[in-house]
Order: sequence, then C-alpha cells, then structure tokens
Amino acid sequence: MSMASIHYDQDADPTVVSGRRVAVIGYGSQGHAHALNLRESGVEVMVGLRPSSKRRVEAEGEGLAVGTVPEVAAWADVVMVLVPDQHAADLYAAEIAPHLVNGDALMFAHGFNIHFGEITPDPGLDVLMVAPKGPGHLVRRTYIEGSGVPCLLAVHQDASGSAKQLGLSYAWGIGGTRAGVLETTFEEETETDLFGEQVILCGGMSELIKASYETLVGAGYQPESAYFETLHELKLIVDLLYEGGLTWMRYSVSDTAEWGDYSTGPRIVTEETRQVMAEVLDDIRSGRFARQWMDEARAGAPNLLDRRSRERAHEIEQVGARLRDLMPFLTPKAPG
Ligand code: NAD
Ligand code: MG
Repeated sequence: MSMASIHYDQDADPTVVSGRRVAVIGYGSQGHAHALNLRESGVEVMVGLRPSSKRRVEAEGEGLAVGTVPEVAAWADVVMVLVPDQHAADLYAAEIAPHLVNGDALMFAHGFNIHFGEITPDPGLDVLMVAPKGPGHLVRRTYIEGSGVPCLLAVHQDASGSAKQLGLSYAWGIGGTRAGVLETTFEEETETDLFGEQVILCGGMSELIKASYETLVGAGYQPESAYFETLHELKLIVDLLYEGGLTWMRYSVSDTAEWGDYSTGPRIVTEETRQVMAEVLDDIRSGRFARQWMDEARAGAPNLLDRRSRERAHEIEQVGARLRDLMPFLTPKAPG
C-alpha cells in the first residue's frame, strides 16, 4: 500500500495565486465558497455567470465583481469551472475556450470532464484540479472559523511547469492547506468519487434506508419508529465512524449491536453484492456510466427528473418531514 503525500500551509506559496486573476465560473455550492475565500485571502477574483442568473444579486451583494462567462474568461488567467459537471463541456466550448490564451490555467473541482474526454483543453494551458472533500458551505464555514476542508490536488497538463505550485497556492487561498492537500490524479479522483457516491454514499445508502424502512412498515411497525431506526439514527453512527473509524463506532455501541453487526452485516452485503460493486466500477472505468449520464443530460435529463419526483413522494419522506417538524434542534432543509 503506497500512501498519498499530503501538503499543508508551509508547502504553499501564497504569492503564486495572489499574482493571478482568478475567474470562478458558477456561484453554487462550490463557487460561492471559492470566490469568497479567495477574495478574503487577498486574491483578485471575478465571478462568471449567465446574464439571466439569479445568483448575480447574491454575488454582487457580497461585493464580488461579476461578469458573463466570456467576459471573466477573457479577463482572467486562471479559470476555475464550478458549474454542474453535465453542463461544463458545452459551456467550455462555447464561452470559455475561445477566451483562453497559452499560459492560462484551467481548473476544476472534479475530474469528470477531463478524464472522460468531454473537454480536451489546448496543450498550451495548465489543467489542474483542486477538489475540496466536502460541500461548499463547509468550505466557506471552516474558512471563516480559521480551519479548512481537506482537498485533492491533481495536475492533468503542466504547460507552464508550475501547475502544481499554482494548485497548492489556490488550495491555500480557499483554506485547503490548513486541513491538508492530498495529491492524486484525475483518473483516481474521478473514478473513486463516482464509485463512492454510487455504491455507498448516495446510491447504496438510499436503497438500504428505503428497503429497511419498507421491511419494518410492511411487517406492521409504526412508520415513525421505522423512520427513526432506519434514517434518523444513521447520523449518530456516521459521526462515530467519522471520529474514530469502525473500531470506535463498534466500541461505542452496545455489545448486542456489535454482535449484530458481525453476524448480520455479511448477510446484507453478500458475495453477490461485491460482484455487483466490481461491475459498477467497471462501468465507471470503461466510461459507460459517463456516456449514459451525458446522453441523459443532453436529452434534458427526463429520467432524472421523473425519478426525482417519484423519490420525493416516497412515504419515508412524508413521515420524515412531519417528524423533523417536531425536532426544534433541526433547521428544516428542503430543496429550493
Ligand atoms: P451547483 O449546482 O451548486 O452550482 C452550479 C453553479 O453553476 C450555479 O451557480 C449555476 O447557476 C451555475 N451554472 C450552471 N450552468 C451555468 C452556465 N451554463 N453558465 C454559467 N453558470 C452556470 O454545483 P456544485 O455542487 O458547486 O458543483 C460544481 C463543481 O464542484 C462540480 O464539478 C462538482 O463535481 C464539484 N464539487 C462539488 C462538491 C459538492 O459537494 N457540491 C464537492 C466537490 C466538488
Ligand atoms: Mg484570459
């Protein structure tokens, strides 16, 4: 097993990014955090948005300079692309690429478009990734608090010979070197990120929640009890895993729960499940998943939208919304 090398504040030269003009394209989860953190680190930033964007008022309200994507791409010599991955390639071709010149740096927070060949940047550009391992609101909040979110750093194309120094400096600017910056490749970041979100973090977890909820309710237990057991309490377990790994979680739960973990876990995640995981990884590595997703997105994402509305109507979502209303310590969250 070879361990990744990790960089901290002392490994980054703040003057590298401070000497550049950085365009942050998009002002969503990641975009707002990068733009505000960089600005407060003393970096010259502009935010690039569509003329019709509702985010413009928000960004300008924070005192950030905003322009259209072509305007800021022309102004900048570092362009960080923080739009939804399925829209990045078309936006790049139409509104970013024509305004880049040799020596400019093109940056991403996820390797999808470069790794799967959706975007093929000109050889005169530096192409690199600084990917925070956390959502944008955390990147912003930890920066304000004086810490940061760990980041992945990867260089795809090093035309200048100093792409890595720029990446480290950019990571410093958003607070990443306070927490640690791990070097990786576009291939590794993209494939492990997709695998993780499909197999466990989003796909695996959502289906386990629904299947266990449906099993309990189907057997006649109260929906409220099923909700607490199969969804609400996950947070307690995930917090323990986050703090001290599997050992700490198993130390903290009862011996009965620990024994149930060992005796039942392998009945749920079987050899067959592991076989499917290998197939999922193969779909990701071969580019099959990426092709299907881009076809879906370019068709207007009809299946995504259909599935989204059916999933939102699931009984556990109705029960959960009612129960969460009764928990004063929760700040209600719902999609806008
Ligand atoms: P988001 O959906 O929160 O925000 C996207 C932004 O792009 C919005 O401001 C939207 O208005 C803007 N936008 C959309 N289409 C546009 C266009 N054609 N022109 C200009 N602006 C446009 O997205 P996000 O979650 O911040 O993701 C951005 C990137 O960061 C992606 O590559 C993603 O994989 C990566 N990333 C996200 C997270 C996360 O937790 N959200 C974590 C790490 C990396
Ligand atoms: Mg330029």
